[in-house]
Amino acid sequence: MREIREALLREDYSLTDLVKHYQSKIAERSHLAAFREVFTDDSLERASEVQSKIKAGTAGKLAGMVLAIKDNICYRDHEVGAASKILEGFISPYHATIVERLLAEDVIIIGRTSCDEFAMGSSNENSAYGPVLNPLDEALVPGGSSGGSAAAVAAGMCLASLGSDTGGSIRQPASFCGLVGLKPTYGRVSRYGLLAYASSMDQIGPFASKSEDAALLLEVMAGKDSKDNTSSNHRVDEYSEEGKARTYELAYYKEIVEHPGLDPQLKADFLAQLEILRSQGHKVEELSFPYLNDLVPTYNVLSNAEASSNLSRYDGIRYGYRSENAGDIDTTYTKSRSEGFGPEVKRRIMLGTFVLSSGYYDAYYSKAQKVRRLIRDATINALSDCDFILSPTTPHSAFKIGDIQDPVQMYLEDIFTVQANLAGVPSVSIPKFKSASGMPIGLQITAGPFEEKKMLQFARSLED
Ligand code: GLN
Repeated sequence: MREIREALLREDYSLTDLVKHYQSKIAERSHLAAFREVFTDDSLERASEVQSKIKAGTAGKLAGMVLAIKDNICYRDHEVGAASKILEGFISPYHATIVERLLAEDVIIIGRTSCDEFAMGSSNENSAYGPVLNPLDEALVPGGSSGGSAAAVAAGMCLASLGSDTGGSIRQPASFCGLVGLKPTYGRVSRYGLLAYASSMDQIGPFASKSEDAALLLEVMAGKDSKDNTSSNHRVDEYSEEGKARTYELAYYKEIVEHPGLDPQLKADFLAQLEILRSQGHKVEELSFPYLNDLVPTYNVLSNAEASSNLSRYDGIRYGYRSENAGDIDTTYTKSRSEGFGPEVKRRIMLGTFVLSSGYYDAYYSKAQKVRRLIRDATINALSDCDFILSPTTPHSAFKIGDIQDPVQMYLEDIFTVQANLAGVPSVSIPKFKSASGMPIGLQITAGPFEEKKMLQFARSLED
């Protein structure tokens, strides 16, 4: 971003040239299916507006930033669809608060990116519009659910993008595509205008090639919003400020390193990385986390329960798709929902309805809430004794499209990422490791609540 801003000021090229450059990159590799829609004309229009502001010296902090947004973030007068047939044709009548804040600082939104339907998935294969391909190896998935946002940045189609992370949907695709992907503290960023999946965990966050750009985006998005009661009024720091070199107290979990699903080469590389950090003067300590195998089941019960409630609003009446075969009110609901939602979304709505139903509520939903509390307490406790918890972001690098057919196996892909969502703490994935075939894998850094500044400064210090 910094280089681009300087180049624009020197008039090496114009913002219009830059937007056209990205648009041609998108067109060149449109088969990756990263975008649901490119805002061709209006991004060029904005480019000339922002260009004049740059000339006049009145441009905002993000002038020069060309951004893509996930298809579940509302941008007024633009279609938003969560990659679902049920929202086909729906145009957002308002801006998400973060979109408003970003536009006020002169960001240019170039388009909306594909994702798993309603952000449910780990591979982007659940989009109603087909899978997104990983730009680094097109036979592989880009990760999910924010796979289009990750692919767009990795393919050079925009400088940065936004995703949403409920159980890892920013960090996991960042890991698979070699990017920085940041999930803020729950409440750090307003959710107003984000299509809800699991409201107690959803957070919007950035993808970028560099931590500094992710930090800059957070700086603009973060902060209290009267339209989202769960947004926090905790002070917004200058996240993009480069920190002084210092040493930290780092921890990692024995259970993660010993996990049978962890790729052996990745395990060796992760342990070697810890040695490097030790040799740089950081303190590295091994901790035990007894709930590792409870994370995914707890996340699934709670996220499905919340999804079943949040998605009840898509009824064939108020938004988007209505079945051609709808007759009375009941068939309007059932046919529109049966035809409009894809199989994974239906599975989760049914499971969520089940765990909330009378007779099962205590056995599943209440129990999962209690386990969540244990997980949260253990996580916050560990983080009060150290600066960061480190782990690989994912158990392995990107897998082949079509390779994981069993939903439960797919859910287990999230084993290292869901903890931060259940605990509400911030977490970032930065590119650090490589598979035998040269595909990237992220290092995940998790910090205490509202410690984004320190976390991003540490991430920046580890950047190659
Ligand atoms: N992969 C996880 C899931 O399928 C996480 C999704 C997300 O963070 N939105 O639910």
